[in-house]
Amino acid sequence: MKRILIIGGGYSGTEIIRQLVLRGVRGIEVELISVGRYFENTIAGTEVISEKLRAEDLRYDLQLLSDYWGFSLTAGRVTKINLDEKVVKLENGEREYDVLVVASGSVPNFYDVKGFDLALPSYRLSDFEQINRSLKRLNNDRPRVIIVGAGYVGLEVAAEIMDFFKSSGRKAEVIVVEKTGHVLPGFNNEAARRMTLEAMSSRGIGFNFGKGVKRIAEGKVVLEDGSELQSDLTIWSGGVKGSELALNTIGASLHNSYIHVDEKLLIKGRLDAFAIGDAAYVETGGSVAQKMAGEALEQAVTTARNIISIIGGQKPSVEHKINYSVNFPKVLLSLGEGKALLIFGPHYASLGSTEYFLKRRIDVEEMMGRFPRA
Ligand SMILES: Cc1cc2nc3c(=O)[nH]c(=O)nc-3n(C[C@H](O)[C@H](O)[C@H](O)COP(=O)(O)OP(=O)(O)OC[C@H]3O[C@@H](n4cnc5c(N)ncnc54)[C@H](O)[C@@H]3O)c2cc1C
Repeated sequence: MKRILIIGGGYSGTEIIRQLVLRGVRGIEVELISVGRYFENTIAGTEVISEKLRAEDLRYDLQLLSDYWGFSLTAGRVTKINLDEKVVKLENGEREYDVLVVASGSVPNFYDVKGFDLALPSYRLSDFEQINRSLKRLNNDRPRVIIVGAGYVGLEVAAEIMDFFKSSGRKAEVIVVEKTGHVLPGFNNEAARRMTLEAMSSRGIGFNFGKGVKRIAEGKVVLEDGSELQSDLTIWSGGVKGSELALNTIGASLHNSYIHVDEKLLIKGRLDAFAIGDAAYVETGGSVAQKMAGEALEQAVTTARNIISIIGGQKPSVEHKINYSVNFPKVLLSLGEGKALLIFGPHYASLGSTEYFLKRRIDVEEMMGRFPRA
């Protein structure tokens, strides 16, 4: 019996188990260790802000999944990994493994900005529920909401806040602050940037480009040049970084806080430990993987195939082909009012209701449809 230990019950962690089940793999013992008991479908989560979706519809009970798919679940946090000794430490106890997969995702990056804890994060489903509650509590006439970061998360948050106020018949001022000179800094597609800016500006969303946030204080956001923006509610959408666990993985090398892996997604220098999804820095065939759920799922497929080789007594040999690369962006971004923007590569972008239908279909139905209906 080979013992497969997977850390993280998000997109990539659950998909590996699904792939092993689909491929009828027997004679293994799989344990999933994850903080909390639920898979969270965060990619559709911003719509919880405007109440178009409920957080409970975007969660799946991992305990139930463990009954369906026959793995054991530990709801807990891994604090340390020693790849040399093949030991994983949890808050309570430790585990040994034959094969390890680190699929622990990323965490919001606050860049040590002072007062960051006065802003609401926009990362987990509970964050979107909290934003919704906070919007309801804003009782002044025309509240001002500042969103830090014009990446796709910040823009979706801005769009959903506009929809929230629209549906409740209230007015608000929504301003997105972005350090670089344009929206979507992570996606090199000028047409997408132009269309997004036009669409969002025409909805009344304001943009403040070119200055980063230096400090967040009660009722205001202070920019790098010392100028201040009054704020009734500040939301942080400033990007992600690798989690603490990457730093606490003895025997792994890091690339900008992410675990460095080879083309088979093995942690560099290892034959029995993988890192995938947002936790990993993946560079193969001249491309760098984008931190996206779609890519995390693809990496899980590669890893499941390599685990099968190991179980069969062979060396892992499947090389990963990056599907969502930094150079060729592929994303559907909801811009509110039932419209979404499709970005496909560095030149193509289209905006409309069909794109929104597609986004809903992929982000909700396909993502949740990976699991048996309860
Ligand atoms: C608001 C938002 C919108 C997004 N929209 C899109 C989109 O439209 N399309 C797209 O492709 N991508 C999107 N992304 C990115 C996508 O969510 C990530 O790329 C994806 O979640 C990565 O999957 P993962 O399996 O690596 O990590 P995750 O899905 O984050 O799972 C990590 C899991 O590990 C657990 N964990 C963390 N640390 C530990 C520990 N120490 N011990 C045990 N368990 C641990 C966590 O609790 C979590 O369950 C979006 C992200 C956000 C925040």
